Amino acid sequence: MIAQVVPVLLAFGANLGDRGETIRAAQRSLAAADGISGLVASPLRETIALTGEGPDPDAPRYLNGVATAETTLTAHELLDLTQAIEAAFGRVRDVRWGDRTLDIDLILYGGRVLRDERLTVPHPRAHERDFVLAPWHDLDPDAVLMGHGRVADLLARVGDTTRPFDEGEDEGRR
Ligand code: ATP
Ligand code: CA
Ligand code: CA
Repeated sequence: MIAQVVPVLLAFGANLGDRGETIRAAQRSLAAADGISGLVASPLRETIALTGEGPDPDAPRYLNGVATAETTLTAHELLDLTQAIEAAFGRVRDVRWGDRTLDIDLILYGGRVLRDERLTVPHPRAHERDFVLAPWHDLDPDAVLMGHGRVADLLARVGDTTRPFDEGEDEGRR
């Protein structure tokens, strides 16, 4: 049987270390992985950290981006892969919504609705997050988030607090 090819949308975030290089390296590992093809990444945007207590202007700021790709992996295989990549980049899981070197979320897995103890897809908070919507809109101004409508409209509704990020910018900090 030929495996089905499923279009997916992934979101990336990092607020510790060399944020831009980490996200780009993670995207390169994903693009090179078995079962993934056609990865196209958005520009990166810089955003205020969202913690368990809400936005925290004193926490290290995030870089965020999204990428589209096609996969023959199941959603759980893809989650295993993204979690392995997070671990390879030194992610330590402790506080929920705490600082991290790398976060990769599965936003959409084709048109599927999945909900179990490991995975909820579409991602239940994507529609209210400017740091997902804004880079997605950069990549595809006509994008639609299933169940919620046009990304442009969602972004206008939540308000865009992100700012474009020049990827040369982090280098001076090393
Ligand atoms: P948020 O989901 O609000 O963005 P987070 O990314 O900080 O929070 P994590 O600590 O990275 O949360 O992940 C917690 C768990 O969420 C993971 O172990 C994973 O099993 C589960 N999870 C459920 N749905 C998804 C999804 N769509 N993408 C990634 N992880 C998911
Ligand atoms: Ca997340
Ligand atoms: Ca996550």
